[in-house]
Amino acid sequence: MTATIIDGKARAAALKAQVAEEVARLGGLGVEPGLAVVLVGDDPASQVYVRSKGTACRTAGIQSFEHRISADVEARDLIGLIDRLNVDPAVSGILVQLPLPPHLDPHVILGAMDPAKDVDGFHVVNAGALATGRWGLVPCTPRGCLLLLQETLDDLAGREAIVIGRSNVVGKPMAQLLLRESCTVTVAHSRTRDLPEVVRRAEIVVAAAGRTGMIRGDWIRPGATVIDVGINRGDDGKLRGDVAFDEALDVAGAITPVPGGVGPMTIACLLENTVEAARRQHGLPDPA
Ligand code: NAD
Repeated sequence: MTATIIDGKARAAALKAQVAEEVARLGGLGVEPGLAVVLVGDDPASQVYVRSKGTACRTAGIQSFEHRISADVEARDLIGLIDRLNVDPAVSGILVQLPLPPHLDPHVILGAMDPAKDVDGFHVVNAGALATGRWGLVPCTPRGCLLLLQETLDDLAGREAIVIGRSNVVGKPMAQLLLRESCTVTVAHSRTRDLPEVVRRAEIVVAAAGRTGMIRGDWIRPGATVIDVGINRGDDGKLRGDVAFDEALDVAGAITPVPGGVGPMTIACLLENTVEAARRQHGLPDPA
C-alpha cells in the first residue's frame, strides 16, 4: 500500500482564503479583527514564527500588531502590556510567543490574558472549556490536525486513536478534541510501556513527541491515518517529523508530510481563531 499524502499546504491555503472572505464580511459590519503578537527576547526560531504570523494576518486582511520586548523584561511590565492589550478594542486576539525566558512563568503570563482574546487557547479557562465540552478558543495545532483528520476520514466516531505526547500545547488538547469526536483515545508519553504495541492498535496516529523518526513503519496499523506534528531540525538543516516517513508510506492509508502537513494548518487556524474571537467580542454568531 502507498499512503495518500495529506496536503496540509493546500488545505491551509483554502482555509486562509475562507478566513479572508470572512474578514471582508466582518469589515462590512464594522468589525476589524486584529492580532497582537508579543515576542520576548530574540530567539531566532521565535522570530521566524512571529514574522510568518504577521505576514499571514496581513494577507488575510487581519491587522497585525507586533510587540518585541527585551529578554530581561520583568513579569509585572509584561503583564502591564497584556493588561493594555486586553482592553484595546483594536486587538481581538493576543498571542505570547513561547518559549519565554526562564525567569518568566508561562502559567502566570498566559493567565494574565483575557481568555476571550487567548487565540492560542492555552489559558486555563479555554483548556477547561475544551475538557468540559463548552465553547472556548481551541489550540491551533490540534485544531488543524482535527481538520485534516475530518477531511481524510468520513467519520471519526468509535475509531481507535493514539496521541503520542501529552503537552498542554499539542498532546492534551488533541486528545480532548478526539474524545469530543467520540474516538477511543489513548495518550502515550515518555513513560508509556511498549509504545510500538500501543501504536499498532490505532486507526489514527497523532505523533507529537518531538523525536525525529521515532515512529517506525512496522509500528503502524495497515491503512491507519497518520498525522505527524513533530518538527525536528536535523544536522543537515532539514525539517523532519516524528514518523519515519518513507517506512510509514508503505503501510499507512494516509499521512501528513513534514514540512507541508500540520505546520501550515497551525497558522491558518490561528487566523480562524482570531476571527472567531472578533466575532464573539462583537456578539456576532458564527457563520452557518
Ligand atoms: P513537548 O516537548 O512539550 O512534549 C513532548 C511530549 O512527547 C511529552 O509529553 C513527552 O512525554 C512525549 N515524549 C517524548 N519522548 C517520547 C518518547 N520517546 N515516547 C513517547 N512519548 C514521548 O513538545 P510539544 O510542544 O508538544 O511539541 C511536540 C512536537 O511537535 C515538537 O517536535 C514540536 O516542534 C512540534 N510542534 C509542531 C507544531 C506545528 O505547527 N506543526 C506546533 C507545536 C509543536
